[in-house]
Amino acid sequence: MDNDVGENRQGAAGGGNHMDRHGQNDWGSVRYDPRFDEYWVPAGNARQALFYCPWCGVKLPASQRDRWFDQLEAMGIDPWGNDLPNRYRDDTWRRKGSTEG
Ligand SMILES: [Zn+2]
Repeated sequence: MDNDVGENRQGAAGGGNHMDRHGQNDWGSVRYDPRFDEYWVPAGNARQALFYCPWCGVKLPASQRDRWFDQLEAMGIDPWGNDLPNRYRDDTWRRKGSTEG
């Protein structure tokens, strides 16, 4: 069916919040962090990162958490500080690369 084309195009999760396609996740059991392209579930006070979608089993994208910290460190920016560039507050930094701005 034509309805399946978009879903199968990439073969794996990627490009935005994969959970958007799972209506059963509307109660937020799986969280998405656009900064890291990371999916996780609360585990006590910690995050348990997910490597596979619990709803459809597709492999989820690798977390970009290390890159996020590496780039901020390379620019001398405190990841926990208040001067975090806006593009590092969401997925903008991943889409635009490492150009300054
Ligand atoms: Zn899925």
